[in-house]
Amino acid sequence: MIRATTLSLLLLALLGCAKEAVPPPAPPRPSILLVTLDTTRADAIGPATPAFNALAARGQRFTQAYATAPQTLPSHSSMMTGLYPAGHGVHENARFLGDQNAVLAQKLHDAGYRTAAFVSGFPVARRFGLARGFDVYDDEFEIERSSRETTDRTIAFLRSETQRPLFLWVHYYDPHHPYAPPEPFRTRYAKNPYLGEVAAMDEQLGRLLQAFGDGAIIVVADHGEGLGDHGESQHGYLLYQSVMHVPLVMAGPDIRPGTSDAPISTRRIFHTILHWAGVATDPAPQQEVVTGEAMAPFLDFGWQPQVMAVEGRTKTIRAGAIETYDVIGDPGETRDLGSDAIPRNVRNVLAEYPLPSAEATKPANLSEEERRRFASLGYITSAAKPAIRADAPRPRDMTPLFEDLENASTLFVREQYAAAIPLLEKIVRADPHNLGTILRLAAAHSNLGHNDAALAAFRKAEAIAPDSEDVRLYLALHYARTEEWERAVPMLKAFPDRVPALEALGDLSMRLGRTQDAIDAYERARALEGTQFQHDLELGVLYLAARRFEDARAALDRVPPSHPGYPMALFKRAQVSVLLNEPDRAARIASARERADATTRGLIERETLFRNQPVP
Ligand SMILES: [Zn+2]
Repeated sequence: MIRATTLSLLLLALLGCAKEAVPPPAPPRPSILLVTLDTTRADAIGPATPAFNALAARGQRFTQAYATAPQTLPSHSSMMTGLYPAGHGVHENARFLGDQNAVLAQKLHDAGYRTAAFVSGFPVARRFGLARGFDVYDDEFEIERSSRETTDRTIAFLRSETQRPLFLWVHYYDPHHPYAPPEPFRTRYAKNPYLGEVAAMDEQLGRLLQAFGDGAIIVVADHGEGLGDHGESQHGYLLYQSVMHVPLVMAGPDIRPGTSDAPISTRRIFHTILHWAGVATDPAPQQEVVTGEAMAPFLDFGWQPQVMAVEGRTKTIRAGAIETYDVIGDPGETRDLGSDAIPRNVRNVLAEYPLPSAEATKPANLSEEERRRFASLGYITSAAKPAIRADAPRPRDMTPLFEDLENASTLFVREQYAAAIPLLEKIVRADPHNLGTILRLAAAHSNLGHNDAALAAFRKAEAIAPDSEDVRLYLALHYARTEEWERAVPMLKAFPDRVPALEALGDLSMRLGRTQDAIDAYERARALEGTQFQHDLELGVLYLAARRFEDARAALDRVPPSHPGYPMALFKRAQVSVLLNEPDRAARIASARERADATTRGLIERETLFRNQPVP
């Protein structure tokens, strides 16, 4: 009897323990979909966007959502970190989101989420730092890909991938300039091809939402498009509603349908998604003055830095002078209400908004090829350090130059220097302190062999920015071009982390027969560039000259068949093969012969190493 009672008590005790030890079952965490619509104005939402509208009907629509910057990389960096550009340090495209801040995907991944991203445009390619924390980061395109292609790939992934919960980020790029919608939207929107791009993208959004199924969903734009408002055709130069006011909708099991008219920054997407996932994070303040910035014209041209703040229906822009608008009553921002209309807290927020530091303006290490890809998208990627001048022009006063700046940039990066020079000179006449343009003018003259004109432009650039690294780098590249070895080498060596300097140093050293210097420079560039490195043929030739045959073999094996010097790589590889006494050396000689071009044919026939080799 006693024994049974003891057993019962023991069982009860155990049960009690078990009851206390096992926490109540956690509510299942939702799969989360974030869709970012590139270059989509808030007022593009309407009859052209039935899929977006259907989502908004069952979710919460934010009528006053603001991007943190009118450019792709800084804006996305804010969504992924919860910080304004002043916090994460990415103020313009072609920079790099460093690992000093926690990112959304990493936090979700650490919390047990499967994480995947499918992106569509070069400004958010893996190398710019947004891929951290993603198990899958699909950026397989040269410059951009259509929303149809991105959606096809995403849907294929959703079918094969069963692990849940899932965090999925899909980025669409279609509405970005140039506007060339596919049929039937091309015909339907013949008079407004920009809206045609938005409509084509919305069709794919509908397919994506259907494939994703149940879960929590955010659809948002990274910034808008000027379309001529305030003299801006695209985006990146100014802070008006056309580029900063964006569509935003959130939908999911716990979200009450409705509309919110309070101003909200798209950086809050970070906090919202972590809240949905049950991941603890510093809460964003409930009430805050929403801010934004456009620093690219400041960083690239030396114009006034631009900051904005929105509270209620009042938006204030500080860009040299102050402008204030009632964005509800006057969404076109046509009537400046003057500085008396600014609330004191907004004044403080604007005064305290930090300007970019020199460190924050360090460029991503773009190769020449990547600079070309940016130019084809209409972006300028100069790397001038910030030089703040009290008399710097206000960006809104410079609108007549926007088109010339874009065209000059495109010509420059496509290496059409003779055509670029008159345009660059025209810009400098109108804006004599525009450092980025003066440097391009100097480089254009240098490339065409106009040495006096190049040096005159460099002197002008040095007078504007005596401490600028960029001026010294471009000047060093000029001396490399003119083979002024004694001048160029010490200057180039001052840039051990800049790919263009290392490539120039490698090329110059090679031409001057300094094999070891050339190997060192190219290897350093290769370490920085990874798979983007394009000088493996040079490295192979250099290692062969240094009689480092194993290194030569490795370098030559990395030269892809698409490389214009591939026949040379095969010839050099055959030489290495003979020198290493490889069993397949005869086959390699045969293959070099077979693929020989005008340059290598004679070299192969005269090569004494190839005599007396067995026939394959
Ligand atoms: Zn964008």
